[in-house]
Amino acid sequence: MKFGGTSVATLDRIRRAAKRVGLEVAKGYDVIVIVSAMSGKTNELVGWVNETSPMFDAREYDAVVSSGENVTAGLMALTLQEMDIPARSWQGWQVPLKTTSAHSSARIEEIPTDNINRKFGEGMQVAVVAGFQGISPEGRITTLGRGGSDTTAVAFAAAFDAERCDIYTDVDGVYTTDPRVCDKARKMDRIAFEEMLELASLGAKVLQTRSVELAMRYKVRLRVLSSFEEPSDNAGTLVCDEEDIMESNVVAGVAYSRDEAKMTLVSVEDRPGIAAAIFMPLSEAGVNVDMIVQNIAEEGRTDMTFSCPTEQVKRAQKALDDAKAKGDISFNELVADTGVAKISVVGIGMRSHTGVAAKMFKVLSSEGINIKVITTSEIKISVLIDRKYMELAVQALHDAFELEKKA
Ligand code: ADP
Ligand code: ASP
Ligand code: MG
Repeated sequence: MKFGGTSVATLDRIRRAAKRVGLEVAKGYDVIVIVSAMSGKTNELVGWVNETSPMFDAREYDAVVSSGENVTAGLMALTLQEMDIPARSWQGWQVPLKTTSAHSSARIEEIPTDNINRKFGEGMQVAVVAGFQGISPEGRITTLGRGGSDTTAVAFAAAFDAERCDIYTDVDGVYTTDPRVCDKARKMDRIAFEEMLELASLGAKVLQTRSVELAMRYKVRLRVLSSFEEPSDNAGTLVCDEEDIMESNVVAGVAYSRDEAKMTLVSVEDRPGIAAAIFMPLSEAGVNVDMIVQNIAEEGRTDMTFSCPTEQVKRAQKALDDAKAKGDISFNELVADTGVAKISVVGIGMRSHTGVAAKMFKVLSSEGINIKVITTSEIKISVLIDRKYMELAVQALHDAFELEKKA
């Protein structure tokens, strides 16, 4: 059972969450509870790091931002103990949850089960684990990227061969789009792993992308449900195999990502190796490049455009300026447009239906929204647009593809 930030935002909510855990214990289950930091806490910690050191040492970033989860893990264990349920807390390093050393976006390598299982054998009924954090081969604290507690939860479910992995959050399941942006958004009873994976990676933060990948790979029975609603057996949304869904819409959902930046290198040389010379330093600087467009070349020069999260713009600028100073690349200007958002439509049905892209473009044009960059893959189409049109675009697409209606 994983409880996100809003579900543990106050002592009272921790008590409510603990009661849910108690219900499962009463059914005879041993439970592993994964907790996030209290809502807002991680943002505050990230803010403190940035204020102290804008080009921070990622190891210390992790040391700071992982701490919110330590508090809730201890408080949850104490709350359970107050309910006479034998529980104890575990920080990532105590498990130990072993990760790579890619600080701030580490990947889980291994979760040994013996320590926790021994305690279950000795009568412990609930292991409360601090989500989002682990330990690197060098013995330093790592974090798994924002939203990483979801991944901790699925990884534990896989490692312990759990019967279920229930993700408790502040909405009662996965919707056709973010219900905060579109009031016609419809809760889905089921969604296919592949669609959930795309929605998550394109910005639907209800599940961290990596958690969906892990659930798909290890066949974890993954549910998303609300910690505020009365418990029931078929509440929430089940993330499952495509074959387990009877009917589905061509477009399953619309996702958005608010904090995108569009970066354009004006007039770079057009020669073999130029893309590598640009994107290698960006990758080494830890910039997550998403869309890439290279314009038509003229007289041996071309423009190269890419998108990345707004928070990485400074890093990207520095990496490219350094590469220019070293003579690895040359360009006239680097233009950063930090006012864009990415809107995507996702659906497995696109494999067999044509016309989705054309319809998407038509809908946006009839709202007067200009498209700046387009990318497509087998089951998704993404566009970059001005951020001020983001909500409008999501709502218009949701209407046009009739997502409020069930297939
Ligand atoms: P938690 O703190 O529990 O991990 P998050 O804030 O990370 O919760 O994720 C839940 C939020 O995800 C919801 O409040 C909702 O605004 C947002 N969200 C975005 N897209 C969707 C979607 N398609 N379905 C449900 N929620 C979504
Ligand atoms: N507290 C972390 C975050 O806000 C991890 C999580 O909540 O999943 O990103
Ligand atoms: Mg989350």
